[in-house]
Amino acid sequence: MTGLTVRDLKVVFDGFVAVGGVDLDVPAGDVRFIIGPNGAGKTTLVDAITGLARATGTVTFDGQELLGRKVHRIARLGVGRTFQNSTVFEELTVLQNLDIAAGWHRGPLTLLRRRTSIPPRVQAALETIRLTAVRDQLAGTLPHGQKQWLEIGMLLVQDAKLFLLDEPVAGMSHEERDATGELLGELSRDHTVVVIEHDMDFLRRFARTVTVMHAGRILSEGTVAEVQADPRVQEVYLGH
Ligand code: ADP
Repeated sequence: MTGLTVRDLKVVFDGFVAVGGVDLDVPAGDVRFIIGPNGAGKTTLVDAITGLARATGTVTFDGQELLGRKVHRIARLGVGRTFQNSTVFEELTVLQNLDIAAGWHRGPLTLLRRRTSIPPRVQAALETIRLTAVRDQLAGTLPHGQKQWLEIGMLLVQDAKLFLLDEPVAGMSHEERDATGELLGELSRDHTVVVIEHDMDFLRRFARTVTVMHAGRILSEGTVAEVQADPRVQEVYLGH
């Protein structure tokens, strides 16, 4: 595993430069937090990595070039993404959601087969995402935080190796935030994790390395303390 390497990434919408030449290295096993004011290009960067936005430059993950491939091809290479709005199937149970996700690359017939036991990787995912006790509950009845964890579990059973998470702790309780911080640490033991996050309290507690974007570029990189002390960051991001 070599992690994620982005070189000179550019995304232009009708002449507007949303991402203007980004270089980013996220080693395997790291959790990288990306912050920056609204419109900085964070979502577009992730869109480009996942094939949703047309981009130039290079994006390699574990030695494979991602740019130019279709969204589903990139997903099959182990790139998983969550969105701020949950995409779980609300009318299905937690376990059924994981089952569907686990069977996604084997075709719809797999889903019709009755399960007599829980496959080991689904069980392992349930434990990682802390939802074993609610596995038979309808996903629609879960609190927001647990839905976010279910999304992560669905990527886990799909064998995602790179996790791109969009504001996972937005709207979470303190307890859910703490649990999410621990979950991200556990995830990073075997996966590469990139998190767009605004919550500075959360970052202070759980972030080792933060990348600050502004106007489509990388403005600063380092520990939370380092980037907060960077006058360029204070000017554009913290409004000092
Ligand atoms: P962030 O996630 O940091 O808030 P975005 O990546 O969403 O920033 O947006 C970066 C810039 O690109 C913004 O100015 C936004 O308006 C613009 N943008 C994003 N998507 C599109 C699009 N599909 N077409 C035109 N402009 C876009």
